Amino acid sequence: MKLKSLVLSVSAVLLSGCGTMAKQQEYNADLIINNGQVLTVNADMQVIDDGVVVVKNDKIIAVGDEKLLEQYYAPKNIDANDGIVMPGMINAHNHLPMIAFRGLGEEGISNRLFAYFFPLEAQKLSRELIYNATKLGAIDLAQSGVTTYADMYYHMDEMAKATKEVGLRAVLGETVIKFPVVDAKQPYGGIQYAKPFIEEYQNDPLITPAYAPHAVYTVSKEKLQEINQLSEDYDVPVLIHVAEFPNEEARIKDPTKATSPVEYLEEIGVLDERMVIAHGIHLSQHDQALLKQADAGVVYNPMANVKGATGIAPAWDMFRADMRVGLGTDGPMSSNQVDLWRTLSYAANMQRLKHSDRTIMIPEQVIEMATIGGAKALHMEDEIGSLEVGKKADIIIVETQSANMMPSYDPYATLVYQANPSNVDTTIVNGKVVMEQRQMKTIQLDDIRQSVEAFESDIADFAKELSKKAIKSKSLMD
Ligand SMILES: [Zn+2]
Repeated sequence: MKLKSLVLSVSAVLLSGCGTMAKQQEYNADLIINNGQVLTVNADMQVIDDGVVVVKNDKIIAVGDEKLLEQYYAPKNIDANDGIVMPGMINAHNHLPMIAFRGLGEEGISNRLFAYFFPLEAQKLSRELIYNATKLGAIDLAQSGVTTYADMYYHMDEMAKATKEVGLRAVLGETVIKFPVVDAKQPYGGIQYAKPFIEEYQNDPLITPAYAPHAVYTVSKEKLQEINQLSEDYDVPVLIHVAEFPNEEARIKDPTKATSPVEYLEEIGVLDERMVIAHGIHLSQHDQALLKQADAGVVYNPMANVKGATGIAPAWDMFRADMRVGLGTDGPMSSNQVDLWRTLSYAANMQRLKHSDRTIMIPEQVIEMATIGGAKALHMEDEIGSLEVGKKADIIIVETQSANMMPSYDPYATLVYQANPSNVDTTIVNGKVVMEQRQMKTIQLDDIRQSVEAFESDIADFAKELSKKAIKSKSLMD
């Protein structure tokens, strides 16, 4: 394979010396990736050995075999060195700035959300911390081949700034919740906070602004309806946690006839195609049918759900029913990884265990879920999620030269069951090289090391005291 591409490049050099061919040699592309096994993740799941991907501006303009090298010329060429060339992965549910708290609260706290997460955030979150932690998280994502992430958090304008500095794509949902939080002194202040943020980023090439009502039990019916109306007016997504815990409907203050959170959302008129639900663990068949009917997105977070012992989502059933199912990690306190590599094997293995069936959710389907599936969950499948002409150039190259990647008979199996973040060699987002040969091109980890060390030392003592108190708290809602 390498020899063939060498011959082609030598012949290109020879031809460039020939006057009659000079016109053909003019650049008609910006970036060409060659000498890789291209996983297109298109509708036919086409794989092209010795494949070539051609990029111009922010888009893919050609995908095919080596013949494309005779047709396209670009100032930048990347030799994939026999690696795997694939769409960037999409982490469709995260709370990235919580990377500042990664590794805390691991002492076995039963009421972790209310007795630990929320008090920790109330005390330690700030605009500055969110900005710096997002930068750390975005570098982690870029280095591990995630090119798009969806997030529900606070000060989303700071997150947008940091994400753009690193060069990633993101769907950023401003959290709306019934108590005061870092960026809103009044309950539900996120609704107001979101407005200028949405207006500023509505047409941004990398950032899709969104609303993020926290959950059905932390946001009132009226506020969910108000957000639904605003999301329609602005045409932005609504990200929300749904059916993460059993019997969430019992926590809803304004009971309806609904016997599940999905039925409740349906009944109050807010379940529609702009909604992206995270978790969806405790879903009846009727709930799944309602989600499908609404054309809503669902994000499966297997690693966080197993770690939190919340259950196994019916992801395989929904995937088979051709629903919009993507993968997520949830926040860095929930699965401790922001990349999707470990999540890939969890995604498959937990479904096999749930169904007692080793034949389901084969690696090819897992990669589908991690790429085009995530794009579908976010309703971005026309833009990202596969390597096809006209799509945004969000591309990664995964090397296959390391010991853990050998042998590589089936690229999907290699990716799902062998690869780890350090195998990602190159990350390209919107046509721009963010990392090449493991070197970040946009921002260096050393640039932010001091700020990370500063927040770490500021948080450590408080967190230790908080965990002593939290460990005694048993009720789920106090
Ligand atoms: Zn979450």
